[in-house]
Amino acid sequence: MTGMRGLNLIGGRWVPALSEAVFRRHNPADEDDLVGEFPESSAADVEAAVSAVAEGAAEWARTPADRRAEVLWKAAGLLEERRAELTAELVREEGKTLAEASVETTRTPLNLRFHAGEAQRISGSSYPADDGGLVYTWREPVGVVGAITPWNFPLNIPSRKIGPALAAGNGVVFKPSPVTPLMAQRLVEALLAAGLPPRTIALVHGGAEAGAAVAADPRVAAVTFTGSTAAGRAVHALVGPSRRAQLEMGGKNPVVVLEDADLERAARIIVKGAFGLSGQACTGTSRVIALAPVYDRLLARVVELTEALSVGDGMRRGVDMGPLAAGFQLRKVLDYVRIGREEGAELLTGGERLTGGGRRRGLFVAPAVFGGLRPQARLAREEVFGPVLGFLRAGDFEEALALAADTEYGLASGIVTRDLGRALAFARRSPSGLVKVNQPTTGMAMNVPFGGLGESSTQTFKEQAGPTMMLFYLQEKSVYLSPLD
Ligand code: NAD
Repeated sequence: MTGMRGLNLIGGRWVPALSEAVFRRHNPADEDDLVGEFPESSAADVEAAVSAVAEGAAEWARTPADRRAEVLWKAAGLLEERRAELTAELVREEGKTLAEASVETTRTPLNLRFHAGEAQRISGSSYPADDGGLVYTWREPVGVVGAITPWNFPLNIPSRKIGPALAAGNGVVFKPSPVTPLMAQRLVEALLAAGLPPRTIALVHGGAEAGAAVAADPRVAAVTFTGSTAAGRAVHALVGPSRRAQLEMGGKNPVVVLEDADLERAARIIVKGAFGLSGQACTGTSRVIALAPVYDRLLARVVELTEALSVGDGMRRGVDMGPLAAGFQLRKVLDYVRIGREEGAELLTGGERLTGGGRRRGLFVAPAVFGGLRPQARLAREEVFGPVLGFLRAGDFEEALALAADTEYGLASGIVTRDLGRALAFARRSPSGLVKVNQPTTGMAMNVPFGGLGESSTQTFKEQAGPTMMLFYLQEKSVYLSPLD
């Protein structure tokens, strides 16, 4: 297949980067397959994009809420009409399996519809005043929102940012990951085809330079970022204290397995959480903390299930795990496997690059399981963001809790047990924003607050929950109104 020529959207026109520089994106299952060439934008492109959106945003802010909702609703329908094609493009660009990609292409339109509803639920409050008048609060759009996104959910995550930003009446400068530029382009195309005034949104392709320029521009009132903790901290510093930042970042998510657990169920929960999306989920399971009486049996069953996973091109039926998304991901995963071995953990399966069976041109690795991980090992503390799982042994529940909590991150955690009392104690004491009982650490509902604790998130605005999520995209004034006499 020949690659497409992607463009930036600035001021309502599809344009190359001012410098004409481009980057190329290849299919991670077959690096001979060019997905496309996209603009490598610089700060000058971002400057032009912010100028255009700053003007466009004023008109969109005056657009009635039901009309804003209609645009989001219609864009959702257009994405649904193209779902089969979009799913295949997502597999080709990012490397998900068909089943994983179709979850995302199903979820994304639902996100847009959810936010369409929220557009019509913006409200304020009123208070009696001492002079017989009234005080009321008024919520208005913040103006220009910068959305900086990762590649692992290239439709779903942007729809959770652009959806509420537009629903609230803001303009958006969208800087997607350079790993998944095509999906970003498809989302913006659907919004335009649904009737979004073209100057309301800008799409600026590129990497860290473009992202930093979005974060640094003082005309961008609010920056919503999802990505690594390191990049998130850099974005936060650029945004500074007087503008808004919402950062959703990395994780090192544990699953605790108690001695009373159904071990077959626990093993399946762990394998799904660890190796779904090739281990490239922020909420993916990367540490298992098993109580001593079940440690050996659980580890053996997890190894068995892991070895049964079929790794290959996500387009092929029957494949359980696709490639890693990019060369830098492959290098990082292989590095951490080496580090794990050097640190003395026992590699029980996987961890090597797979090139046989038609996989020579792809970025495939065998999912890796380590036993005997030490709590201070880098592999137990640093986010790999790939299919590498490590087991730690705990003597009792208290030790398991302490090991689970021994991380700077606080995104997701899980426990597998039949004991409701200890499950609830874990939920109360586990320092993570998301706690799962008897289910994988991955997966979450659209209408529920989402966000981490510790180094996984900013604590000011939760993503995703209806009313609280919208507050990030709205600023509030209190108006004091006196009667004339
Ligand atoms: P990344 O941090 O490399 O990139 C994320 C985005 O930020 C990209 O658009 C990138 O171009 C941009 N960027 C990178 N450096 C920047 C800088 N200095 N200034 C401004 N922008 C910059 O992350 P990634 O590799 O795309 O995604 C993987 C990471 O994302 C993992 O750490 C994962 O845990 C995290 N993630 C978190 C969540 C969550 O909800 N908490 C969800 C998905 C992914």
